[in-house]
Amino acid sequence: MSTDIGRLYGIGNAKKAAYAKLGIYTVEDIIAHYPRGYEDRGNVKLLCDADGQGKSSHILVVATEPRVSTVKGRMSLLKFRAYDESGVCEITFFNQNYLKSVFSLGSEFRFYGKVEKKGNRYYMSSPAYEPILDGIELPPLVSLYHLTEGITQKQITKDIRAAMTLTAAAESKELLPEEIRKKYKLCYGSFALRNIHSPDSFASLAAAKRRLIFEELFTFALGISMARSKNEAVRAIPCGEQDISSLISSLPYELTGAQKRVIEDIKKDMARNIAMNRIIVGDVGSGKTVCAAAAMLIAVLSGRQAALMAPTEILARQHYKDISELLAPLGIRCELLVGAMTTAEKRRVHKGLAEADESKRISVVIGTQALLSDGVEFACPGLVVTDEQHRFGVGQRATLAKKNELSHMLVMSATPIPRTLALTVYGDLDVSVIDEMPKGRQRVDTFVVDESYRERLDGFIKKQVREGGQVYIVCPAVEDSEEDDDLSIEDIDLEGNIRPSSPLRSAVGFSAELAEKFPNLRVEFLHGKMKSQQKDAVMKEFSEGNVDVLVSTTVIEVGVNVPNACLMIVENADRFGLSQLHQLRGRVGRGKRKSYCVLVSDAATEESAAKDRLNVMRTCYDGYTIAERDLEMRGPGDFLRGGSEASLRQSGGVRFRLASLCDDMGLMKCAFDEARALVASDPSLDSYPELRETVDRMFTLDTGTIN
Ligand code: ADP
Ligand code: MG
Repeated sequence: MSTDIGRLYGIGNAKKAAYAKLGIYTVEDIIAHYPRGYEDRGNVKLLCDADGQGKSSHILVVATEPRVSTVKGRMSLLKFRAYDESGVCEITFFNQNYLKSVFSLGSEFRFYGKVEKKGNRYYMSSPAYEPILDGIELPPLVSLYHLTEGITQKQITKDIRAAMTLTAAAESKELLPEEIRKKYKLCYGSFALRNIHSPDSFASLAAAKRRLIFEELFTFALGISMARSKNEAVRAIPCGEQDISSLISSLPYELTGAQKRVIEDIKKDMARNIAMNRIIVGDVGSGKTVCAAAAMLIAVLSGRQAALMAPTEILARQHYKDISELLAPLGIRCELLVGAMTTAEKRRVHKGLAEADESKRISVVIGTQALLSDGVEFACPGLVVTDEQHRFGVGQRATLAKKNELSHMLVMSATPIPRTLALTVYGDLDVSVIDEMPKGRQRVDTFVVDESYRERLDGFIKKQVREGGQVYIVCPAVEDSEEDDDLSIEDIDLEGNIRPSSPLRSAVGFSAELAEKFPNLRVEFLHGKMKSQQKDAVMKEFSEGNVDVLVSTTVIEVGVNVPNACLMIVENADRFGLSQLHQLRGRVGRGKRKSYCVLVSDAATEESAAKDRLNVMRTCYDGYTIAERDLEMRGPGDFLRGGSEASLRQSGGVRFRLASLCDDMGLMKCAFDEARALVASDPSLDSYPELRETVDRMFTLDTGTIN
């Protein structure tokens, strides 16, 4: 499994470098590079049934000898005709003269591509082709992989096959304990790997997917169960019962019941000599900051220091401002520590943190991962707060904990997550939920519409801009692509059914369309594949009011605050999880302007589960309830995905390959129950060395995932 990819036949240095770009270094890596989707070539149609839109599969007999001609001097065309019972198709290939001998008269092929009809003749250009040979059945599904320059579908398919052959002996070793595999009717790992790459049917593909998802969830669950059993033994300095009424009475508002509960949880935890390990989960705007400030105050009142680490500099600065506003009036010294500061400034903060004399010491520090750097030492650590837990690896939290020995730990997450799921996903932490919003927030009126509303929607965009507002439009894809014709791995559920899906709008494509439609508006696009400098520049222009309409992928989900934005339009809204839609909706309604959210979806036309789901957004404005409904309707995958493009497939710092596609809460719960039971009976998995190794790999490999 750890064999270098360069050892496979036909992979030289250039290919090796190309594979490295895909994160593929070993035989194991390439086997774990699952297809992004499949071509449904088994669904063979007659030429007359091709719809002229997408690609389709046709079995045709070659009717004429291929003829080669040259055009424009250099390009050569190879043409021949082939037929089925419904018609004749002219097939063309470019610059591939060697195919002349392949398509011999009378031979039969399965062609896959786009069929065009002109007059009563059909045409296909450079279709995929497979010979029909006696006794050999063609696979119904052909895998498609994410590629990079220098690697073709053909090449990677061949290399994966070679890797599978090479490891055939090793892979027959089953990773899952046999009782568990049987109990949940999971197929063998070797079967799963073979069938995820080259499925022999939809049913086998579904079985493979289900097994691999379980394996991933189980591995993840083992990791956090092990972490939890370790946590229970971590000591900390007890902070005693501190009186924080000075903070509470200084607030210009009354705490919500949920906030009071969370602060009580924290107080109790911090009074113990076992380290607090708590996560506060609450919607954006639910008031987590003041809870964190209360915890920091408890630490400081008991003579200890508190640190808060945020994933980005913008967020760190925001927290610094909010928290010093709360704590500085109480005479507590707060400082900022971020990478962009000068060496002299940093040194001053380092010194203040390590200061032995309490009167000169910095009590509270807020920063980025600069807090993890070597120069940082705390004289008297007591509390570490981290923000946005899903963006930090478990390992990074561990580094911070090491610098802060005997400290309590508090994590804040803005992803409202259902209680049932929180217990599993954040299994190594105690969970406090803020499920109540402060009073008096603006409600963003929400509509669910289909294409028939397009014209009215365009008018609405113009009206908002004319009145001085700004508009966000979110699209699910980055660029228009041919890939829309393919069957995405997400589209096949765990029973082997295909979920219907409509073509996706893309940020780049749609912004061009709108720029043409609205020549007087300033339209820009933004997506995760852009360089961060470019992204920042576009975002800055938007926040300064120099862009009217920002067409974007979900990158705008986190941390943007443009109070002047008053309309959020989400295209292909059925493609998003409700929690994600809720986060997106939270980008508007932040200022004084009356704000709106419009969800555009084909699903809005007919009564359907997708429509019911979207309609939740019309009536429900509480992220917590929305998350519960989403979990009921879609399963847990959406939550494992983390919600935003940036944190795609990350949870607790772990990146999932397939588990983020899980639509079965039952399966998820089983994986966690079994993991907990196994760790209880064998805390360091001594009897399952391979499993242990897989767990270690999942958690160590991904601790580097941070932005
Ligand atoms: P988040 O949970 O997103 O971090 P914040 O802590 O930033 O939310 O709070 C959002 C805003 O709500 C802040 O301006 C804060 O002062 C205010 N706020 C917090 N708690 C309450 C409350 N109980 N009543 C009214 N406003 C509150
Ligand atoms: Mg906040």
